[in-house]
Amino acid sequence: MNVNLTEDEIAFRDEVRKFFAEKYPADLRIKQDQGITLRREDTIRWQKILYEQGWFAVNWPEEYGGTGWTPIQKYLFANEMAAANAPVIVPFGVAMVGPVIYTFGSDEQKQRFLPDILASNVWWCQGYSEPGSGSDLASLKTKADREGDHYVVNGTKTWTTLGHLADWIFCLVRTTSDVARRQEGISFLLIEMSTPGVSVKPIITIEGDHEVNEVHFDNVSVPVENLVGEEGKGWTYGKVLLQHERTNTAGVARSKYRLDNLKEKAAQSIHDAAPLMSDRNFARKVAAVEIELKALEYTDLRTLAAVATGKAPGPESSILKIKGTEIQQSIDALFVEAAGYYALPYVPEQYVVDFPDEDRIGYGAETKSSLRYFNNRKATIYAGSNEIQKNIIAKHVLDL
Ligand SMILES: Cc1cc2nc3c(=O)[nH]c(=O)nc-3n(C[C@H](O)[C@H](O)[C@H](O)COP(=O)(O)OP(=O)(O)OC[C@H]3O[C@@H](n4cnc5c(N)ncnc54)[C@H](O)[C@@H]3O)c2cc1C
Repeated sequence: MNVNLTEDEIAFRDEVRKFFAEKYPADLRIKQDQGITLRREDTIRWQKILYEQGWFAVNWPEEYGGTGWTPIQKYLFANEMAAANAPVIVPFGVAMVGPVIYTFGSDEQKQRFLPDILASNVWWCQGYSEPGSGSDLASLKTKADREGDHYVVNGTKTWTTLGHLADWIFCLVRTTSDVARRQEGISFLLIEMSTPGVSVKPIITIEGDHEVNEVHFDNVSVPVENLVGEEGKGWTYGKVLLQHERTNTAGVARSKYRLDNLKEKAAQSIHDAAPLMSDRNFARKVAAVEIELKALEYTDLRTLAAVATGKAPGPESSILKIKGTEIQQSIDALFVEAAGYYALPYVPEQYVVDFPDEDRIGYGAETKSSLRYFNNRKATIYAGSNEIQKNIIAKHVLDL
């Protein structure tokens, strides 16, 4: 694939670079660079800046407020955003439920939900997985029984990322049990988190953060107008969303930024010792990851080009998901190795508390390499575990 940039593309890249240099708030930049968890309001502030620029819904069609960018423009934008170490966009609204609503939703739903997703006025979370229904998602048991003009929802969703911060949740629910194929009885329902009967319980992850939750539904009344598309077709809509989700998890631009950052740090000499990059074994490991990442970058570009011609990302999104997350975890491990002893102290408060600069201990960022390492074990599990992605590739790519 030819990625030589045209003059217009170079001008576009420069415009994006200038935007990040000028509009990315310094206080957020400091938090990001020091690995401090952003608060809800930080993320919303940043997303609104992108929205005001018209650059928030990168993949949406123009008629709904998207950018209308070419694959190369999207690629350049992602690269510049990662190079600025700008906050990752929370995907649940703009990258997940938004595309489902503009593709399968009614006109009323489009008018009601899309503007607030675009402006980050409403925070969404994803209610697919349940205790006992993760890889085998079609076994899900959360029930939505139709009673007149509303559904009554009962059940439990789990691993709900940032559900404690969310205003709305999009759920796969069972509306019929009496079906030939389990997938046929599943529907796609939008539920407001403030509805009576919805409760959220934290799950604390291995590095000590509150990122995921259990969400319980106890006789929750949901108006039928919150059903997206047809009853019983939720599996089809949910699958389209999962393919987008997997494509997004490749994270190529972020991995490039992190690898450059690692190389820069490892090239420095600390306490007069030889830089780590002069260790041939370490340099070999870095080079191996870099080669994998370059190959993934080209696969990602090919997928972007296919999506631009109107195709939903197909089973190739599984390849992107596997390789992208394996590379992310290899980089996590190299950061821990590079931090050496400084990666050892386990001080969770560093992760969640905003220290003023003068109070920060010198090796804070390095300590976080281990926290990140532990947190990111999730990458090969969420969005469908990598083992499940291998099954999809075997069936749909290799035709086994
Ligand atoms: C940090 C985190 C955030 C998440 N966020 C969300 C969220 O916001 N919303 C949401 O709905 N879900 C979320 N998930 C859930 C995620 O999608 C599931 O964890 C995932 O699908 C795996 O399901 P499970 O945990 O039930 O594991 P299981 O399905 O029980 O799998 C256990 C192990 O068995 C393997 N396995 C299972 N079946 C097969 C098979 N057929 N072939 C080969 N190997 C198999 C799996 O790969 C895994 O290693 C999140 C998960 C994590 C860890």
